[in-house]
Amino acid sequence: MQRIETHAAEVGGLPVRRAVPSHGRRMVGAWCFLDHLGPVEPRAGGGLHVGPHPHIGLQTFTWMIEGEVVHRDSLGNEQVIRPGEVNLMTAGRGISHSEDSVAGGSGGLHATQLWIALPEVERRRAPAFEHHARLPGFGLGGFRATLLAGRACGESSPVPVYSQLVGIDLTASGPAAEALPLEPAFEYAVLVLTGSLTVADEPLAPNVLLYLGRGRQELSLRSSGASRSILVGGEPFGEEILLWWNFVARSREEIVSASAAWNAGSGSTADYAFGEVHGSPSPRLSAPEVPLIRR
Ligand code: MN
Repeated sequence: MQRIETHAAEVGGLPVRRAVPSHGRRMVGAWCFLDHLGPVEPRAGGGLHVGPHPHIGLQTFTWMIEGEVVHRDSLGNEQVIRPGEVNLMTAGRGISHSEDSVAGGSGGLHATQLWIALPEVERRRAPAFEHHARLPGFGLGGFRATLLAGRACGESSPVPVYSQLVGIDLTASGPAAEALPLEPAFEYAVLVLTGSLTVADEPLAPNVLLYLGRGRQELSLRSSGASRSILVGGEPFGEEILLWWNFVARSREEIVSASAAWNAGSGSTADYAFGEVHGSPSPRLSAPEVPLIRR
């Protein structure tokens, strides 16, 4: 087991706590990014405003707990995401999008955004976007489990993924205790979002990611009161990735090329076609200068 402190970051004007990548943990299965946004009180600020920006080589996975955010992308999708819903964007060989709190909304927000690295054989696939308003759920010893991705306890999430992985939201409104069956070939980690949880006899509160490794048949979960957590897991990824800015690639050359294509403004070169995002009230973001990257 490994306890990893989340670190402070900022996304679209909001403070976030970043659990992955961290100094001690670059990935959990194909999950290569895990941000916990908020909770931000209503009227505490202007909400989330992430202007148009590109992605390659990954899927962005947004799980909304409180608040409403509009996603707009270069495929022409415009989709409000509300509590209990998932937005899944497959960047593949290139897409751009924006995320803005709904105009006139309360500004309150609580969400997680995760990225899933696409394996070599899938990472140049065509871009796509899906909204999922309903996800499978099941009771678990007083917890309410929502299956965000993958399979668990006989349920299967409709969210398309391209490697063996799982994501589960675990919500307790009062005391709860259960052993969750696990896939021994997967590595797992748990992040508490609100309240506290005891995981495999290890007390856990927000802002610490508990990495559990692999080889477990089950995981004991205990909540003494109201709590909310997410569990992510998957087959160890087995490929070296390079994650920089909004790109998941394999080499610095790819990242330089994708950054140049985006910053050229047309959104399109021989190698990359990021398109354009229409309707966002937020300014288009520019790729910063690519540093000398060492893996
Ligand atoms: Mn994005």
